[in-house]
Amino acid sequence: MARYTGAVCRLCRRERMKLFLKGTKCDSMRCPIERRPYPPGQHGRGRVRDSEYLLQLREKQKCRRIYGLLEKQFQLIYAKANKQPGITGENLLRLLELRIDNVVFRTAFASSRSQARQFVRHGHVLVNGKRVTIPSYVVRKDDVLTLSEKARKMIVIRHNIDTLDRIAPQWLDVNAGEFKATVRDLPLREQIDIPVREQLIVELYSK
Ligand code: SF4
Repeated sequence: MARYTGAVCRLCRRERMKLFLKGTKCDSMRCPIERRPYPPGQHGRGRVRDSEYLLQLREKQKCRRIYGLLEKQFQLIYAKANKQPGITGENLLRLLELRIDNVVFRTAFASSRSQARQFVRHGHVLVNGKRVTIPSYVVRKDDVLTLSEKARKMIVIRHNIDTLDRIAPQWLDVNAGEFKATVRDLPLREQIDIPVREQLIVELYSK
């Protein structure tokens, strides 16, 4: 599946904020945002004329980059959210949160969403006892995620569990000792802690 392979930190600099795309580096002084908190490129520090469109675009790009999706993938999820009953922006964030790569990231078995995606692709994650290798797989209420026997012995996963100081969201029950997580409920907007104004994304795509 296609994925972004360019420099990751410049995405954060473009959005002028930490998007936490690189695991432990993000919490250290090696984070480039600390030293260069302005957009990348020759005109990064130039003047930008704010417009309604720019605000909407930046909000969409920020959301897309946090979850590590390409434009086409993001548009497909938006189209699905738009068809669901309820508030489209909230549906969109819920669908993004319930992607299996994001859920593995939320459990703190992985230090970043891209690492979580790699664990899924390599077959280390099981849903209700069945191996799932598609990172875009959407989990449902009461689904039980477990790690494979091989993954339980992996140093990187044990290290993540021991060192990552991440609190699982209320909608997810995590039992790190058993390498297991249960989707207790569907996430509500207030339980999704990403700094995105989803209404601006809806306005952008509604044009
Ligand atoms: Fe973003 Fe992390 Fe890179 Fe800092 S280290 S710029 S938070 S990806």
